[in-house]
This record gives sequence, structure tokens and C-alpha cells, in this order.
Amino acid sequence: MNIGIREIDRIKSGKGSDQKSVTILGSTGSIGCNTLDLISRERDKYTVKALTAHQNVAELAKQAIEFNAEMAVIADGALLNELKSALSGTKIIAAAGEAALNEAADMDADWVMSSIVGAAGLKPTLTAVRRGATIALANKECLVCAGEFMMEQVEAYGATILPVDSEHNAIFQIFDFDEPEKVEKITLTASGGPFWNTDIADMVNITPEQAVKHPNWSMGAKISVDSATMMNKGLELIEAYYMFPVGKDQLDIIIHPQSIVHSMVSYIDGSVLAQLGTPDMRTPISYTLGWPHRIKSPSKKLDLTEIGQLDFIKPNGLKFPSIDITREVLHKGGSAPTILNASNEIAVSAFLKGKIGFNDITKIVEQALERIDIHHLNSLDDVHDVDEISRKVSSELVTGLMK
Ligand code: NAD
Ligand code: MG
Repeated sequence: MNIGIREIDRIKSGKGSDQKSVTILGSTGSIGCNTLDLISRERDKYTVKALTAHQNVAELAKQAIEFNAEMAVIADGALLNELKSALSGTKIIAAAGEAALNEAADMDADWVMSSIVGAAGLKPTLTAVRRGATIALANKECLVCAGEFMMEQVEAYGATILPVDSEHNAIFQIFDFDEPEKVEKITLTASGGPFWNTDIADMVNITPEQAVKHPNWSMGAKISVDSATMMNKGLELIEAYYMFPVGKDQLDIIIHPQSIVHSMVSYIDGSVLAQLGTPDMRTPISYTLGWPHRIKSPSKKLDLTEIGQLDFIKPNGLKFPSIDITREVLHKGGSAPTILNASNEIAVSAFLKGKIGFNDITKIVEQALERIDIHHLNSLDDVHDVDEISRKVSSELVTGLMK
């Protein structure tokens, strides 16, 4: 397991300067904008190498100009001319398409934020891994659909992965990497999304508008729906397995509706360490941006007396089948998590478009896992093949269920 931990002492003892060059893959999204918000508060400490987006040319160009980026990349190749004209009169290089995205990831930035949503983040993140970069990893699909392969590459190329997801960032802060065998278990906390309290009979009528309204966190649409189905926590369970040196049965999930305790690590002596904070992604992002030093974040400071009460509830497996599905997938390993990730992406997207119902999301994932052969993954091409077939099968399942 290598998330760069062994490097901590060396870096803490003085390597590196105060100035950091950064690249943000997915700069126009929720994580990307939060990252730029932190950078905007200490502009003299950062230079921006590359910023990338999918289709939002106006926002990308605005960011690139504001932060004086060297390069701006729009993933949708058809939008190159639009980007070029938005950046005309500046020295910013405008580029488009998949190859340009990889070029951005390959630039020699000191720190790369991987915050593209979905499996689309895989290739550029791998490119950054292969140049041995320090990568703040927000994209959870990378580890979910290609965890084994990705971590092998991280090890082989000496890259450093800093977890951004609030739970994994919490664990990163409290895990004893010197004595991992003294860890009894990791407990991931889940807000439970907007429906942890909803009657099971009412789940069938949930609309996309209700599902994207997260009670505590402000996030992109896909992850908000994943939170509502609790698939997000399942994906995080898989992610945690690949990030931290623990066994598959040493990972637990509990609902904590206030989202103040971001995760816990239990040790053999009975001690349980937790990381707490108000729910604001700028705290975990700042931990990775400043790493190995802490830097200031504008997040609201935690006042426990203001909150008064913290609740912890066992998740109901009947209401949230995604937890059992992901546990099973984690145990099966191989291509199972890749199928899970792809079919979930297709199902969530269909739900957001109003094509299928809320409960259909996990039904599609379950059926895709039954229909598609599970095997060992030997290469990134394998991952892509499984991803493709899973999307195809899941799209057919969507058509079969369409309202
Ligand atoms: P978002 O939808 O707000 O932003 C996604 C970014 O990726 C945008 O910049 C978009 O332009 C880009 N993008 C989308 N499709 C692309 C494609 N096909 N090719 C290239 N670029 C593409 O998402 P987000 O909420 O910022 O989440 C980003 C990632 O971080 C996700 O994997 C999510 O699970 C993870 N994450 C997010 C949060 C959060 O609080 N938002 C928390 C933990 C983890
Ligand atoms: Mg999370």
C-alpha cells in the first residue's frame, strides 16, 4: 500500500518550497471550484499549470484567465474553437479532447487535483500517476473501477495519493500507518442522504429534485444521488479498502446525520480516533493542498455546543440495498467493482433524466452484476472493456425499466 505515507517524514523535514504549481482536472465542478476558492485566498503561493472541464467553456475560460493558467483543456473536442475564441488575446494555451486532457495531467505540476466525475477521470489520473505526481484524489470512481491496477501503478511509479473524499481524508489524518496491524476497524460515517429517515414505502416516489438536495453537503448531481441511495458509501467502502492497509471485513458503515464526525479508526486497545469538522469540502481539500503542512481554510469552525447532539444509526439494508451489494462486490473483487461503477453511472444518469425510478437504480446495478461475467483485470484495456460492456448492458436494463 502506498499513498505516499513513507514520504511524509522526508517532506516534513523541509523538502519543497512555499510556492506550489497546481493542475486541476475537473476545475469547473464542485470540488474544482472549492479548490480554486482556496487558491484564490493565497494567490501568491500558487501558480496554475492546467485547468480542465468537460463542456462548460465559459466557466473554464473565466477560471483560466482569473488564475492565469498555462493551459485550459475542454474535454469535448467539438468545443475547441469556442474555447479558443474565449481565450483569444491571452497567452493561455487552449486545447481539447482526450489527448489534451492527458497532456494537462502530464504537465509537471507539483500537485494535481483529480476531480473529474466518473470513469472519465481514470486515464488522466493514471497519466499523472505515471509521472510520479502528488495527486489529491477526489474522483472515487478511479479506485472503485480499477483499484487494484491503480494502486499497483501508484507503487510502481512512486506517485503519492492524498485522499480528498471527506471520509478518507479523515482516516488519512488518524490512521497509524506505522502500525497498521494495531487497527481493528475503520468506520465510515454516512450522512444517510436526504432519505435515511424516509419511510421505505415512500422511497418509490422520490424525484431527482428531491434526491439531489443533500441535507449537509453541497456537491455535484451524480454524487448527491449516490448519497441518497447510499451507493456513495458503498463506493467509499471499496475506495477505503484500496487506500488503507486493512482487510475487507475491517470496514464498517454507520449513519451519522449531522456529518460532523467524518470517520473513525478503532484500535486494539479500545481507543477510537475520529476526525471532526463542519461539513465543508474545503477542509479536506486544504489538508491535501497544504500537505504535509496544515493551511488555513475558510470553513466554518466547529462549535459542538451549537450542534448539541450527534446521532449514530445502523443503516437499514432493506432501504439501502447498495450497502450489501457493494460489500459483496468488494469480496468478489476482479471486475465486479468495475461493473458496479459503470452500471451505477448509467442508472443514476437515467434517474436524473426522469427515465427510471429511484429504487430502479440499485435494481439495475444488481441485475448488471448478475448478467456480466466477473473476471480478473489484467490491464487498463480490460477495465475499459468491462466498463463498456457494463454500460451497454445497463442501458438495455434502463430501456427495459423505462417509465
Ligand atoms: P461535478 O459534477 O461538480 O464536477 C465534475 C467535473 O468533471 C467538472 O469540471 C466537469 O467539467 C468534469 N467532467 C465531467 N465529465 C467529464 C468528462 N467526460 N471528461 C472530462 N471532464 C469531465 O462533480 P464533483 O461533485 O466536483 O465531484 C468530482 C469527483 O469528486 C467525483 O468523482 C465525486 O465522486 C468526488 N467527490 C466529490 C465530493 C463533493 O463534495 N463534491 C466529495 C467527495 C468526492
Ligand atoms: Mg465522502
